[in-house]
Amino acid sequence: MNEGIRRMIERDIAGRGIRDPRVIAAMGKVDRALFVPPEWKESAYDDHPLSIGAGQTISQPYMVAFMTEALGLSGDERVLEIGTGSGYQTAILAELAREVYTVERIESLATAAEDRLVALGYANIRFHLGDGSLGWREYAPYDRIIVTAAAPAAPPSLIGQIAEGGRMVIPVGPPDGQALEIIERREGRILRRNSIGCIFVPLVGKEGFPGGPGQLDR
Ligand code: SAM
Repeated sequence: MNEGIRRMIERDIAGRGIRDPRVIAAMGKVDRALFVPPEWKESAYDDHPLSIGAGQTISQPYMVAFMTEALGLSGDERVLEIGTGSGYQTAILAELAREVYTVERIESLATAAEDRLVALGYANIRFHLGDGSLGWREYAPYDRIIVTAAAPAAPPSLIGQIAEGGRMVIPVGPPDGQALEIIERREGRILRRNSIGCIFVPLVGKEGFPGGPGQLDR
């Protein structure tokens, strides 16, 4: 682990209350500098989002760690991620789960993230270009679902793709500020609770916020 990552872990991950040793180890192993554009390399270990192009961001390290910890991964899960972005969160998930299914709606980001993650040697990730507000029906249900873009309300299609005993973590609320919602399916019942506040870019799609003229940005 390099000095920048070590400081990031000490100050913003363990230092801010993340306790799961597997999450801390994954945050220490995956180098965020490999996922940010060249002009942001010097800020790669700072605890804030950074621009990755196409009007999108790589999330702040603390939020990545918090959401990952909230998923409660033991290593055997199939995880659906909505909003591949740079692929940083995807890599953290791939370190901690059996299989990761990731969906992105912007083609340039999806392609760059896939090239990056394949070059890094991850073999347990499947990639899909499409509207993730509808989930990814082909491989549903999922033990865990993580949405890294803000939804006006938890999309019914995504709730429908949570496996029995499974869990979804999703930012819900207006574009200027949301709360992380944790939704679980227990004996067929849907249980919901709110966690910390956050600000994410919008989930744009049929069960998200309205977007541009097309369903996909290319
Ligand atoms: N987790 C990412 C990372 O580590 O770099 C950051 C994700 S960024 C905050 C949110 C991403 O969600 C953007 O790349 C955006 O294009 C994507 N997004 C927004 N609406 C989407 C949708 N309906 N389906 C799939 N991806 C979507």
